[in-house]
Amino acid sequence: MTSPLLVANWKMNLPPEGIAEFVAALTRLPEGIEVAVAPPFPFLGTFAEEIEGRGARIERAAQNCSDRESGAFTGEVSAAMLRQAGVSHVILGHSERRALFGEDNRLVGRKLRQAIGEGLIPIFCIGEDEETREAGRTAALLERQIVEAAEEMENLPDVLIIAYEPVWAIGTGKNASPEMAAETHAGIRRIVGGISHETELVILYGGSVTPDNAASLAAQEEINGFLVGGASLSSEKFGAIARAMRQMEENQPAEG
Ligand code: PEP
Repeated sequence: MTSPLLVANWKMNLPPEGIAEFVAALTRLPEGIEVAVAPPFPFLGTFAEEIEGRGARIERAAQNCSDRESGAFTGEVSAAMLRQAGVSHVILGHSERRALFGEDNRLVGRKLRQAIGEGLIPIFCIGEDEETREAGRTAALLERQIVEAAEEMENLPDVLIIAYEPVWAIGTGKNASPEMAAETHAGIRRIVGGISHETELVILYGGSVTPDNAASLAAQEEINGFLVGGASLSSEKFGAIARAMRQMEENQPAEG
């Protein structure tokens, strides 16, 4: 069984306190929880030096990778390069990449395939916008996001990490209620179960997670971890979210 997972998405930001101070403050994370941080690409090396130097139990994550293996693709970074740089996880299909950089379900699927092929652990982001939620079309949209991406992948991996991030909750201070998140996660489990019964599914919730709401979200069995944006830029807030997750050790992810 996979441990609860906490992922920081720094986006195109750095923690105001500095990378060294951030890592120094997080050298004593709670046991039983896996923690990964995704700094911008050029800071992966500095981040690695800090976590190695301080013996912090933090994995390195990337915020994106190419769907191509190598070649004349200016500005792209391949999954193999990330692995060589010591990255273990990669966030793919984030709603900002979808909305601002035109990534569609099939491109996200090809990126997932590349990442898995290179031995990276993808964090596959899906989520509905406000209009879709209000129109009662969330389940259909999530299904399309998963199925179209899965069609581009050879097979689903043994363990698949999905981050359910309602777009209306990202960076807005408006989180999904624990019940809404749990119900949606259960729906995601059904969708993935319809594709593969062999896949162990870990579903993170993302969208305005803070130290104030983390414990009530973490109390939901269907929630196996968090993907955190804004609050992950402060070691104090990020550490408090990690501590709120201790109760999740009991929440065993079920087979998909
Ligand atoms: C995110 O960008 O993945 C995210 C969840 O951001 P925030 O926590 O700021 O809503």
